[in-house]
This record gives sequence, C-alpha cells and structure tokens, in this order.
Amino acid sequence: MAENQQPVVFLAEGTKRTRGRDAQRINILVARAVAQAVRSTLGPKGMDKMIVDDLGDITISNDGATILDEMSIEHPAGKMMVEVAKTQDDEVGDGTTTAVVFAGEILHNAEKLLDDEIHPSIIIKGYRLAAQKAKEVYESISESISIKDKDILRDIALTSMTGKSAEAASELADLVVNAVVQVAEEKDNKVIIDMDFIKVEKKVGGSLKDSQLIKGIVIDKEVVHSGMPKKIEDAKIALVDAALEIKGPETEAKIQITDPEQLQAFLDSEERMLKNMVAKIKESGANVLLCQKGIDDIAQHYLAKEGILAVRRVKKSDMDALARATGAKIVSRINDLSKSDLGYAGLVVERKIAGDAMTFIENCKNPKAVSILLRGGSEHVVDEAERAVHDAVGAVCSALKNGKIIVGGGASEVEVAIKLREYAPNVGGREQLAIEAFADALEVIPKTLAETAGMDTIDTIVKLRSKHKEKDGKYYGVDVFNGKIENMRKLRVIEPLSVKTQAITSASEVAEMLLRIDDIIAGSSKSKGPSKDTGETPDLD
Ligand code: ADP
Ligand code: MG
Repeated sequence: MAENQQPVVFLAEGTKRTRGRDAQRINILVARAVAQAVRSTLGPKGMDKMIVDDLGDITISNDGATILDEMSIEHPAGKMMVEVAKTQDDEVGDGTTTAVVFAGEILHNAEKLLDDEIHPSIIIKGYRLAAQKAKEVYESISESISIKDKDILRDIALTSMTGKSAEAASELADLVVNAVVQVAEEKDNKVIIDMDFIKVEKKVGGSLKDSQLIKGIVIDKEVVHSGMPKKIEDAKIALVDAALEIKGPETEAKIQITDPEQLQAFLDSEERMLKNMVAKIKESGANVLLCQKGIDDIAQHYLAKEGILAVRRVKKSDMDALARATGAKIVSRINDLSKSDLGYAGLVVERKIAGDAMTFIENCKNPKAVSILLRGGSEHVVDEAERAVHDAVGAVCSALKNGKIIVGGGASEVEVAIKLREYAPNVGGREQLAIEAFADALEVIPKTLAETAGMDTIDTIVKLRSKHKEKDGKYYGVDVFNGKIENMRKLRVIEPLSVKTQAITSASEVAEMLLRIDDIIAGSSKSKGPSKDTGETPDLD
C-alpha cells in the first residue's frame, strides 16, 4: 500500500460515519485505553486484574494476553490492540504487556505530532525508520548464549515469571529450564524446539511446590479395566489409533438374524475377532497399550488376562507427544503392529492425584517430549501458574532459538532511546520529530516499572539517562524491589532479544495501521460469514 493512501474502517450498523482527524483521534483514544488497562500489571511489582464475565466467572491474572483476551472489547481499534498481544504471544510467548503498552505510547506521541499538523505519512515514515534502528540497537547491545548456559536460562525463566506465582517461582523456573533443555535438539549449530512437546497438565490440590517435571507424558485418563496391572516397569508401549471394537459408533452396521443359532455364531465371531486383536498386540511384545479410540469390554477383558495395561481415548495431541517421548510409532491397523513399532518407558503407572486417576508414562530414555504437572491450592493459583510457565517456556525457547539475550528492567529501552535520539538528526526533516517521539515512547517501560514500585517517574528517567551516558552505565534499569536504579545485569534480570524486537515490530505495525485510517464508516452485515461466536468444537472426553 502506498504511504499516502488512507484505508477506512467499517463499523457495524447504527454507528455514524467519522472522518479525518476525528477518526484518528477516536482510534488512538481507544487503543490507548486498552494499553492503559494492562499498564499497571507490568513487571514484578505489577498488580493483577480481576475480570468478571456476564456469567460471574472470574479470571485473576497479571498476564497481558490473558487479560485482553478475557476483556470484552467492541471497538475495532481496541481489537487491533488485542491482536498485538496475540501476535506477541504466538511469536515469542512473552512480552505481551510490553508490546501493548508500547503501542499505546507511540500512538499517544503520534497524537501530539498530529496536533502539530504533521501529516500521518511523515509520522509513519519516521516510525518505520525508528523501529528499524531500534531493532538494530537492541541487537548490538545483546549477548550470545548457548544451551549450556543453564544459569542464564534460569534467569530468563525467572524474569519472565516474576509477578506471577512468586512463591514458587524458583522451583517452577527449574522445571521450565529442564523441560526446555530436554526437548531441545541441536542441528547445524541451531537449536530447534517445538513448544508443543512441553505438555502442561494441571491438577488442583497440594501446593505449587509439589509441581513436577515428568520425563515422559502424563495423561489425564485412568487404566481402562480394573483387572489390569496399574504399574508396569520396563514398559513396551504400543500406540494404536484404531478402535479395539467391532462396530464403533461411527460404523453402524445392520445385520439380519433369523434364528438364535445365527445370533450365537455372530457373537462368537465378534468375540473371536477381538480376541485375535488382543493376541496380535500380545505377539508384538507390548505390555502397555495406549489407544486413541475406544476399547470394547470384551477386548478389555482379554487384555487384562494377558496382563497388558491399557488406556483408551487418549487425545491425538497426547499420542503425538507419546510417540516423541517413547520412540513408538503410531499404528493404524492392529494387524500391522510389530515389535519395531513399540516404544519404551522405564515406568508406566496409574496414580491418584487429588482423587483423580492419571496415567504417567515416565523414565523415558532421552525423551523429546515431556510434561510439567502443575499443582496448587486452588484453580486460580493453578491457572495463573500455567500462564507463568507458558511465558517462561516461551521466553527460554525464544532465547535459545535466537541465541541472544538482553538486560531487562527498562535498561535496554533507555539505551535504545538514547541511541535513537542520536540517530534522529541524521535523518532530519519532520521525520526527525517522529523518531524522537518513538524514542520517548520506549521509555514508557522504565517509567511504568518505576510507577509500579512507587518511585518518582520523572526523577527515575532523568537519573537513568545520565547514568547511561557514563561508562558501563548501559545496564542500569529500575530495581523495583528496592525502589532505586541499579545494574540489571548484576540483578540477573535477563530477557530474550526476540521478545523485545517482536514487541517493536508488532507495536509499530499496529500504530502505522491506525494512523493510516481517516474514515470510519458503518458497513452492512450482509456479506459476513458465519458468526465467530460458534467457536471451535469442544474437546470431548
Ligand atoms: P510482559 O507481558 O510484557 O512480559 P511482565 O509483567 O512479564 O510483562 O513484565 C515484563 C517487564 O518486567 C520487563 O520489562 C522486564 O524486564 C521487567 N522485569 C522483570 N523482572 C524484573 C525485576 N526483577 N526487576 C525489574 N524489572 C523486571
Ligand atoms: Mg513477561
């Protein structure tokens, strides 16, 4: 799209048309309101939000993405800000509040420029240059790490978790680092990690400190038959995605039977087929069967007789993780099952966790998929711990994938802002003003951190700016716990570089998009697809 082209936003019927500066003003106002809503949650001293929906269900969270997701936001500009948080979450898994707060601030500063009659296209151009330069500066002040730097990985996990579930942060950080390092694979000097293979299961009960890393997979299902063993050591595991049933609900067959003998013969043949299936499994050498579909009562009986532990209706995602963890191949036809398809786990056992039976497939040899089982006193505690772990896993993975880290606590933002202000005059023109506005906006991060710690924000920024001009001052940021400025490198407040650069990218993109709009028009709903509210099909059983 050419820079001076201004797209329009279509609003629902009933809303009148808004144009020009008014359209920009409204969009910026809404976007800033959204940023304002999450701003106070930033950092370890950030506050939590309680969101109550119309059914009275409560979510308590400190996580930007979660808060925005739960809030009901109607205005399109607000929805675009929610998208910023989502993109940030999808791309790097952490830094959602940062991205949204930063987007709000660059829009705020753009507004001031608009008031000074600077054309949106000039602001957009300046912001683009500034975003590019900011990313370069972030990169230049970053440090390299490798998978062996476990202490630093732990710092990253802790930094991303502080503010959430603080009581057990140190234990959870260890779980996260061990989990990520376990599933990471190194190829051609690059670290490859698939976050999907770190499964997080939660069970209310016990305390956060009872949470554990399982070198394998936990499935929220019980052993299917009471006559089966509940514990098998040296498990040879068959993963089957076919049903051990003759007539599954999806293949309803009709048979006509005219006399009782025929009926008996039919039942006998059915039983024989099931018995054969079980015999086939036994023949492969398996002593554990994990089945994605159903297992008929008769089949269960024969499996139990053979001493095979079986679980049915295992989720597809769990099956994939099980294959990675145990080395088994998922087999679709029981007749094809052979010894080479089996996987291995040191132990398969059913345990009662807070009254519910769960099956643990653990002690796998160098598993490339693992589970973190989170425990905690209440659902809110476990849910927030899950979000904390999610962010920490995201942060540690991002740091490893990109191999670069930077210092947090607002230190890097102050440094980048200084470098941007030095760069601005080289660009000159009115764009220079936009670059300076962008630099000022970056300081919203240390400012907000200072705010949450009850410090004087102006004072703090002034001190930080002058400290950064000193030799070795570049690590100075906001020590929120002691209410002063401090060397954040020494305090081990460390973040992945990609979290910062992604925040810059998403924030400047949304600002650019909103600045381009000069017309908000009510549209008719006739061409819309099916309502979004139908959502996805629930995960049954
Ligand atoms: P986000 O959703 O953006 O990740 P967080 O609430 O996790 O928001 O806060 C992240 C910010 O808090 C980062 O700027 C990070 O550097 C800062 N931070 C984390 N730990 C500390 C600490 N111990 N002292 C000061 N700042 C910290
Ligand atoms: Mg975070």
